[in-house]
Amino acid sequence: MPRIYPLEKTRNIGIIAHIDAGKTTTTERILYYTGISYKIGEVHEGTTVTDWMPQERERGITITSAAVTCFWTQSYLKKTEDKEEKIKGEYKINIVDTPGHVDFTAEVERSLRVLDGAVVVFDGVQGVEAQSETVWYQADKYKVPRICFINKLDRIGADFEFCLKSIEERLTKDAVLLTLPIGQEEHFRGVIDLILMKEVYFEGDKGEKVVYKDIDSSLQKEAEKWREILLEKLAERNEEFMEKYFSHSFTVEDIRQAIRRATLNYNFIPIFVGSALNNKGIQLLLDGVVDFLPSPLDLPAPKGIDPLTNQTIERKPIDEEPFSALVFKIQVDPYVGTLSYLRVYSGTLKTGMTVLNTTTGENLRVGRIARMHANNREEIEELFAGDIGAIVGVKTLKTGDTLSDPKKPIVYEKIEFAEPVIWMKVEPKTKTDQEKMGLAIKALVDEDPTFKLTQDPDTGDTLIGGMGELHLEIKVDRLKREFNVEVNVGKPQVAYLETVTKEGVAEGKYIRQSGGRGQYGHVWLKVEPLERGKGFEFINAIKGGIIPDNFIPSVEKGVKEAIEKGVLAGYPIRDIRVTLFDGSYHEVDSSDIAFKIAGAIALQEAVKQANPILLEPIMKVEVVIPQEFLGDVTGDLSSRRAKIEEIFDRGMTKVIRAKVPLAEMFGYVTVLRSLTQGRGTSIMEFYNYEPLPLVLAENIIGNRRVNAK
Ligand code: GDP
Repeated sequence: MPRIYPLEKTRNIGIIAHIDAGKTTTTERILYYTGISYKIGEVHEGTTVTDWMPQERERGITITSAAVTCFWTQSYLKKTEDKEEKIKGEYKINIVDTPGHVDFTAEVERSLRVLDGAVVVFDGVQGVEAQSETVWYQADKYKVPRICFINKLDRIGADFEFCLKSIEERLTKDAVLLTLPIGQEEHFRGVIDLILMKEVYFEGDKGEKVVYKDIDSSLQKEAEKWREILLEKLAERNEEFMEKYFSHSFTVEDIRQAIRRATLNYNFIPIFVGSALNNKGIQLLLDGVVDFLPSPLDLPAPKGIDPLTNQTIERKPIDEEPFSALVFKIQVDPYVGTLSYLRVYSGTLKTGMTVLNTTTGENLRVGRIARMHANNREEIEELFAGDIGAIVGVKTLKTGDTLSDPKKPIVYEKIEFAEPVIWMKVEPKTKTDQEKMGLAIKALVDEDPTFKLTQDPDTGDTLIGGMGELHLEIKVDRLKREFNVEVNVGKPQVAYLETVTKEGVAEGKYIRQSGGRGQYGHVWLKVEPLERGKGFEFINAIKGGIIPDNFIPSVEKGVKEAIEKGVLAGYPIRDIRVTLFDGSYHEVDSSDIAFKIAGAIALQEAVKQANPILLEPIMKVEVVIPQEFLGDVTGDLSSRRAKIEEIFDRGMTKVIRAKVPLAEMFGYVTVLRSLTQGRGTSIMEFYNYEPLPLVLAENIIGNRRVNAK
């Protein structure tokens, strides 16, 4: 079947927001108005359609990404009843659901990779909150053009000017209002469209009828003021429009074109206003998605590596190119099995086709392809360039895998994921749980690259690791709900790291030469510190075959194993460069195993010479509290070794921003609740690793030694 929706009429977008800003409600309304979702589900009724998993509904946060497809024609256009005409005018919008909680920024990053544009939702009372800021800069990193929605203008305390100002101060100078609220808080009635210069109301039961009216004289002046700001900012950013603006000869279409170009150039951020809950403003936001966000054709052709030549190559986003796609999400659906969500970058994926998983080198036959709509799954035959869908029932794919035409392979840039900063022991409650636990955890690990499973080498305990306490709590919750596995959990443990602070040099010898065939491995290693976050580097500086080439990988292997075991207190060593610069070998006795052991011995010795220290994970924390608790809360934070960086007002509340060691933040949610009579909220996110103060380090080193005995 040929493609129905041309590429220029495709939008792949994400809706991103701070938790509680209204992302779920906004998505829900979008799906309703686009006609796919027939019943509006409210978050508090637990019936939203993008949130799949039961505990997401209960917690009201979206943890996992799912992609949903819907269709839209601009509301200012005349609607046609002719089916073919209607389809011709329609745009296809794929919404990749991004997670709303800050513990899951890895998931946000992953979804940003496959988006072409984003809608950022703000709470009209709170303005810019911590996560919006984090995600904003991530979106900058991936060059995602975006539009904004100031939501909740019906709430008490709503203030679009405050919100706009906080966007301008904290995020970008390029934010420009395209709609203006008529009334605010309980008086919020509709919006003024500053391009059309019309009042717009949303009538009918669920605001589904968009009604345009002339601007009332009482609002005229205010509307003109904001329109002038819009036109001026636009002229500053678009030369072609500047000429038209100064000669006073431009049309509505000229304005839209200029906004589109400036938005795609990353120097203009259109802002819409409304209230998702009260069904106001969403349709104009949808018009904005279609009018101003890019189609796959508007963006540079994606680049990857040809695995055969190691050269950088590109694929144009057209159906005729060789097939290539990136897997961005694995989801296990209890009814359909494994869904591997992918974004097709080039070519066409058809059922029955064999594709190459370029990341693993395995071939794969694609049996079924599906597209998700708000309340149903549609089995399809083909996915075209620029589109998003899911392969059904294949268990071998992982997040981040590239798929391509076996004859024309390409690997897209790998997504880098952080290592866990926290570990927790899990123990099955009963014997039946024991049997199921391993498989269930593995299924969760396959979905989420920041979630890890390991065994404590000393005690044999099963440990799960992740990016924060809440991250792990949610996994444990899912084990119970989705897999029927009950576990007891241990106290969370901080994932400390070890590192070196100066150069160290040492020799490692593994020589056994008494009778029969002996062992001979001998190396000299140098270790030195690397910049924080750089991990591990191994350099082979052996010249003239002092150690034959075939033994070098064994030395590296020994070094790597020793690095994972640590030297000070059994934690992995990071941010270290290891150089193999000397050694010797024996014609008969040298072996892989001897060089591996020698490498490990030398590494341990060299690290001991290099003044090793412990590093601890530091979290970026934002606490929002009513004014009267400020003293108590900052006092408590200080006792947790917090570095308080900023305290400011947000509406009626105080916001505290701080960097705090993760070790001091276990159970903080409960503490904050009791300090603030339940009115404080906090979020945290991993920031970086920093040296652990000596006194504390001694404790940990002491403890680990006692435990190990
Ligand atoms: P998310 O965490 O960003 O997905 O936010 P939700 O959509 O779950 O909304 C969080 C809370 O805010 C819910 O209780 C919603 O009912 C409420 N909410 C969402 N949009 C609005 C709005 O426009 N006005 C008001 N007053 N409340 C809203």
